[in-house]
Amino acid sequence: MTVIDRLVRGEYTDSASGNVLSVPTRSVIIRDSLRGDEGDLVRSLDFGSTLAVVSDAATYDVMGKRVETALQSFCKIIPLRLDRPPYPDTDTVDQLRNAGANADAWIAIGSGTINDLCKYASAQENKPYAVFGTAPSMNGFTSVNAAMSVNGLKRSLAAAAPAGVFLDLEVLAGAPKRMICAGLGDSLCRPTAQTDWLIAHYLLDQPYSDVPFNLLAEDEEGLFAESDALMRGDLVAMGRLARTLVLSGFGMTLSGGSYPASQGEHLISHYIEMMAKNQQMIFHGEQIAVTTLTMARLHERLLGKVPPKPKSTNISKDDVTHHFGPDLGSLCWPEISAKSFNPEQAEQLSSRIVDCWDIMCDRIDKARIPSEKLHRILQKAKAPLAPLDLGWSPDFYNTAVKHARLIRKRYTALDLAADSGVDLL
Ligand SMILES: [Zn+2]
Repeated sequence: MTVIDRLVRGEYTDSASGNVLSVPTRSVIIRDSLRGDEGDLVRSLDFGSTLAVVSDAATYDVMGKRVETALQSFCKIIPLRLDRPPYPDTDTVDQLRNAGANADAWIAIGSGTINDLCKYASAQENKPYAVFGTAPSMNGFTSVNAAMSVNGLKRSLAAAAPAGVFLDLEVLAGAPKRMICAGLGDSLCRPTAQTDWLIAHYLLDQPYSDVPFNLLAEDEEGLFAESDALMRGDLVAMGRLARTLVLSGFGMTLSGGSYPASQGEHLISHYIEMMAKNQQMIFHGEQIAVTTLTMARLHERLLGKVPPKPKSTNISKDDVTHHFGPDLGSLCWPEISAKSFNPEQAEQLSSRIVDCWDIMCDRIDKARIPSEKLHRILQKAKAPLAPLDLGWSPDFYNTAVKHARLIRKRYTALDLAADSGVDLL
């Protein structure tokens, strides 16, 4: 039985703790093709007799049409075709909730935004949902939070896990190349996220678990070794990516937060989304590809060398307000304050570092992948490699890397390096 099957059945045992782990999703089916099985897959979830099927023009063409046809043979469907590109805001959620008022469940046909909209509506209405993915672009299929825009501010909100996740590898392989690249990019940050999480664990006693990474171990090497095959539409490679994305979402759910999949590399990306002006459309995972390389290089400068000696955090509220403006500044200040060190705390941290540096670096060495290797994986996939590949000027990117740590209280190598005077870039 695969790792996913064991998790879904509640039969996965964590080898370290002996605990049996389970996830809220009841069915995950990943196959070369799901053609002809769409109706049975949904029927197995016992959703009821009326289903709202949410798609947009593109996802309807690649998957929605056949799902709607299959469902019509045994239940009433309420089709909802969203404008393209769908936008993850409260107005669109209201549209979904109205359309689904008489439905027993939602069927999402899509990936990032449509999945987020349905999982958020599902939590709001306390009605289940299932998703037929149409692109392997992100690891949010199975996570329990949704990226939503609230009054213009992007937030991660509590959402429902899907009851079913159905991934047709032929459909995923036919997705736009940039979306496949994005899924690879969002998976590539496993080593940098793990490294940052271990740093916070060793230096600040924050809880840490190997479970999310153990889940990913089986597919990672093959996925990264054959990133070129993935881009050529190879279904074996696509299966690895699909499982990795599903398991990465489960890893976050099991950890009670995004720790295993979102650390310094995500802070840089989120900073850019907040602060970039007139940014062209860039997929989240494309950004993570580039920011992961930055973090991997920073880890190489920081770790395995002489232990750094952090000083007190030299950032004032005025600095934050000046940089972000009053509105964003007032949101960021509590975040950076929460992980700022006064001189005495910095002294304590320094002695902690001296005590555990070698042990920590040895542990992290087992988790890390050299930046050059990560670079080659992305290069073979013809993925973005440098800020300019995404239209970010070097000046803007430097500013982003320097200030990214201010937006969230999560402690990463960005904080340790900045407080210790180690170059971030
Ligand atoms: Zn991500």
